[in-house]
Amino acid sequence: MNYFFALFIFVFGSIIGSFLNVVVLRHNTGKTIGGRSQCFSCGKQLHWYELFPVFSFAFLMGKCSKCKSKISWQYPLVEVITGTVFLLTIANATGPIETFVGLTPEAFASLFIRLISFCFLIAISVYDMKHKIIPDEWVYSFVGLSFVSLFFGPINGAVSSVIMPSVLDLFSGIILAAPFVLLWIISGGKWIGFGDAKLALGIGWFLGMVYGLSAIIIGFWIGAVISLILLGAGKTACSKAIRSLPAYFGLKHVSMKSEIPFAPFLILGLVLVYFFKWDVTGLGTLLAIMP
Ligand SMILES: [Zn+2]
Repeated sequence: MNYFFALFIFVFGSIIGSFLNVVVLRHNTGKTIGGRSQCFSCGKQLHWYELFPVFSFAFLMGKCSKCKSKISWQYPLVEVITGTVFLLTIANATGPIETFVGLTPEAFASLFIRLISFCFLIAISVYDMKHKIIPDEWVYSFVGLSFVSLFFGPINGAVSSVIMPSVLDLFSGIILAAPFVLLWIISGGKWIGFGDAKLALGIGWFLGMVYGLSAIIIGFWIGAVISLILLGAGKTACSKAIRSLPAYFGLKHVSMKSEIPFAPFLILGLVLVYFFKWDVTGLGTLLAIMP
């Protein structure tokens, strides 16, 4: 492993994460993504040395240098997550992290598509947690990129040429989105948002049938566990850390009627399956032994 190259990738990823923070913050506010960032409380323009991902947050100890108001943990967290996802995605494609040398143009294109897709997914997660809505232009971009990624081979990223996906993988997006559409129709949009159906469409194509199904099931498990924790978080017996959890999901009080954002769980399922290749249903094994 080339540590210098790995560090370069992580720093590059966290700079992209910093940009994603700005995109999420300014989406639908009428503001452009250009222009220097400001403090939300006092409007102080940030100096160049206050704009470094992660480091600035640590250096400022999470406070504005002028008015001392707290800066959200969201910023360094998104930066660290994006840096890590970039590092893992590239490691996934190149094997041990050495350099880009030796990657075929197809492998490079595949890597590029995966990285841009992850950027959209990170932005969608944060936006859904804050506003409980998935912006259409982001989710459709992800769906489009996912469909293209099908032609660059399996999720291990080891591609040397463009391939023709299996029929099952070609339909995986539609097959996996169908139950979401059904739940949306049955519940009149109460149990699940239509945005989640669009996301499932993209997940199916991004991972193929076997891993797409696995990701969605894992997403449901994580969602169920987190929802139970959030429901219990209102109880006074909980520690302060747990009681403050609902706020991170944009919720004041949690009840059975609360609308808990679901996209972050589905996306976490996708990320786990993408990097660890878990097949929780055993569908992959089943397909392999079928004549
Ligand atoms: Zn300030």
